[in-house]
Amino acid sequence: LTRLYGPLTALSNVRVDVMSALVSFERVFEILDLQPLVQDRPGARPLPADARSVEFDDVHFAYPGADQVSLASLQDIAIPDHSPRIPVLRGISFRIRPGQLVALVGPSGAGKTTISQLLPRIYDPYSGAVRIGGVDVRDATLQSVRDAIGVVSQDAHLFHDTIRANLLYARPGALDDELVAALQAAQIWDLVAALPEGLDTVVGDRGYRLSGGEKQRLAIARVLLKAPGIVVLDEATAHLDSESEAAVQQALAAALAGRTSLVIAHRLSTVRAADLILVVEHGQVVESGTHDELVARGGLYADLYRTQFQGQAAIQASTEASPAQV
Ligand code: ADP
Ligand code: MG
Repeated sequence: LTRLYGPLTALSNVRVDVMSALVSFERVFEILDLQPLVQDRPGARPLPADARSVEFDDVHFAYPGADQVSLASLQDIAIPDHSPRIPVLRGISFRIRPGQLVALVGPSGAGKTTISQLLPRIYDPYSGAVRIGGVDVRDATLQSVRDAIGVVSQDAHLFHDTIRANLLYARPGALDDELVAALQAAQIWDLVAALPEGLDTVVGDRGYRLSGGEKQRLAIARVLLKAPGIVVLDEATAHLDSESEAAVQQALAAALAGRTSLVIAHRLSTVRAADLILVVEHGQVVESGTHDELVARGGLYADLYRTQFQGQAAIQASTEASPAQV
């Protein structure tokens, strides 16, 4: 048995190394805002400025296999069709009308983050289509797609630079008044104003260290400055302390208001507010409907609600009962 396990373990270690190498490549590209996996098609045109609806049409996707990971494949997007890949999304279809909020819920590993990454074309599907304003995003310029979408992810990337520079990245040329207004709406201005160097404070690992909730609020301020028609939000799973939780909630409400929103939802309040909830499991939408419809249905959502969300309902009820915390 040991003889059998030895080589197997060695093999799986190699795979883990390659996978983590891939992840760090992605991060580097994300941080540098390079797009090695996805490029403009010849003749790509900007999205119409008013494009706000979102459509996934029978989307299938698999991550490139570890065997395809090489510098060459990072530069050349062509991945041979015969290559073995594990399907991650298997026929995802849904629509979000302009200004509506769609919530993705489901177990970890179901494919929710992957879905959210196909919209700004971090990756392209290998069959089916993702459309914004009726236009296949692969026919639009990458720049116009990324301009149309604001992303707030669980771990917001901040550059090792000043708060001002981190914000100007979202809207070059914004005036300080506009930065302050965005920080106020994102519930983070009080903190920034109290820093000795204010907007000129350098943040990041080697600078002023912001907490997770503070970073998220800075990311929200960026989205407010960018004022995109579409927002993608991966809500934090970690429980923030109740004070910053309330601040983040308020900031998020400002970021989502009036925008087409795709939210990976971990909060009951977001799920309840959704126009449509999609329950994702093993890369497929297994249930969809409103909160009440899905609870009544007694399926996977009803289970999730009992295990994940009902505790939050109790907390929410006690918060509502005590005016001091509202
Ligand atoms: P969720 O957000 O619902 O937890 P994900 O979309 O992150 O799920 O992951 C879906 C599946 O894709 C999982 O099996 C996960 O291991 C895999 N996966 C996620 N990211 C990558 C990646 N960069 N490379 C390869 N596989 C990945
Ligand atoms: Mg995820």
